[in-house]
Amino acid sequence: MSVTNLEKVMKLPSLFEGCYTSRDGVPEFKILVDGKWRQSSGGATIDVKSPIDEALIARVQSGTAGDADAAVNSAYASRKKIRDIPAIDRINILNRARHIIEVNRDYFVKTLVVEAGKTHESALGEVRASLNRIKMTMEEARSIFGEYIPGDWSEDTVAKFALVIHEPLGVITCITPFNYPLFSLVAKVTPALVSGNSIVIKPATDDPLSSILLSRVLQESGIPEGVVNLVTGRGREVGDTLVGHRLVSMITLTGSTETGKHVARMSEMKKLHLELGGKGSAVVADDADISLASKKILEGALKFSGQRCDAISRVLAFEKIHDELMAQLMKDVVHWKLGDPREKGVTMGPLINEGAADRVQLLVDDAVSKGALRLQGGTHHGAYFEPTVLDNVPLDAKIAWEETFGPVVVVIPVKDLDAAIKIVNESRYGLDSCIFTESFYTAWKAAKSFEEGSVAINDAPAHGVGYFPFGGNKDSGLGREGVGHSIDEMTRLKTIQFNLAPAGLGKVRQQAKM
Ligand code: NAD
Repeated sequence: MSVTNLEKVMKLPSLFEGCYTSRDGVPEFKILVDGKWRQSSGGATIDVKSPIDEALIARVQSGTAGDADAAVNSAYASRKKIRDIPAIDRINILNRARHIIEVNRDYFVKTLVVEAGKTHESALGEVRASLNRIKMTMEEARSIFGEYIPGDWSEDTVAKFALVIHEPLGVITCITPFNYPLFSLVAKVTPALVSGNSIVIKPATDDPLSSILLSRVLQESGIPEGVVNLVTGRGREVGDTLVGHRLVSMITLTGSTETGKHVARMSEMKKLHLELGGKGSAVVADDADISLASKKILEGALKFSGQRCDAISRVLAFEKIHDELMAQLMKDVVHWKLGDPREKGVTMGPLINEGAADRVQLLVDDAVSKGALRLQGGTHHGAYFEPTVLDNVPLDAKIAWEETFGPVVVVIPVKDLDAAIKIVNESRYGLDSCIFTESFYTAWKAAKSFEEGSVAINDAPAHGVGYFPFGGNKDSGLGREGVGHSIDEMTRLKTIQFNLAPAGLGKVRQQAKM
């Protein structure tokens, strides 16, 4: 069955009526600026096609620099409206948003399936994680307290005390990637709004529809007009304005390292939170539980067709267990079924577009031309890339170092742990890695030695809902994401000093006895 357009796949409820019109039977979504859904000032639109079968599912506005400027101005002008709401009311508003998502859960799930090519299970998982993230952030928000510091511990502040309080930053630009379009956005807008910031959203161009639906939900939940703004469009067209604008205080971006570096250059002195690319390694030691390692490696490498920053994108297998691990991987990989993600039994759908599959193909072909053994898969049809296993991948192959973002298990035999640590740390990335071993000491040495933001022991890396904080070192980014950590990132400290001496209330030092 062809996907056709979003309106035919599902009739959107009346809640969403204001944010799109219909042209030739295809929904054309608008941008949200200053509380109004409107067309882009440039009048151009971008086709949104389903990766499942290339069907045109919707059109969105191709935003301009002028739209981006208007969105930032609206967020800036409205920043006091959100800051001045009592925190308990901000929590209530976001809980209402959570409730509206819950009520419309099926629309979010279906949208994620058709716009991102996710299986129903994976789309449902993303919606559930989003609901959970809002709930947990609301719980955590109540502990934004600050500090009381008595001054008499220091000679120069004896008669004073200070309060250190958290304040919102002002306007936060939220830029999200295609792979978790709903969850990535929820993980940014929820801490931003609950801590009193106004926002401008720039979703990924390939699958912006769930972000548009979420913006409408936020509007409906009672967030004051102008606080939440959304501009769709090409990164390079609207991005530079959203990032470089003098009225923006912070940029939170999840995306590729190349985009992150560009944004860092453009942003000058603004606060940055960058969640970027990764090249996660799975080290399999000679005492590992091989069946566990194989299962987790395949999950880590193939889930959502490998389009995850926390994917396992190379396996460093100790020579002693290499053959046993390969035999197990080949036995287990047959359970991974590529196909139309709407079909029962399919565990892997297409990549986000054919261009992404062509890119993965180049990486696989380069490895094979340099001596890697192709044991399974290795080709693609349109955007559908087969689950692939490459063995004996040489270290001069590009796929040994570049982020794959496709369903490829890349196995590199290594002599021992020191050899594995050397390869892990030579990466320009530093997001996640994992090790499979039964030895506490081996696990501890790996965990302490890997230059990564997170290390998983006997499991595939997974950021999940963000209960454990995560984030990258080196080219993988700046800052830490997580339920409480994201709130910290989106507030800043202000120190307020009180001098008690004029009222005679401050402490007075005694003369030191000689
Ligand atoms: P991308 O860098 O192509 O795009 C990300 C976002 O940046 C999109 O909204 C895009 O339109 C926007 N953008 C592009 N150019 C811009 C510019 N000049 N100014 C401002 N915005 C601009 O990334 P993608 O392909 O959508 O996502 C995949 C990447 O995201 C992978 O590298 C993946 O590892 C990374 N990612 C990282 C994490 C993490 O937690 N570290 C999580 C998910 C994805």
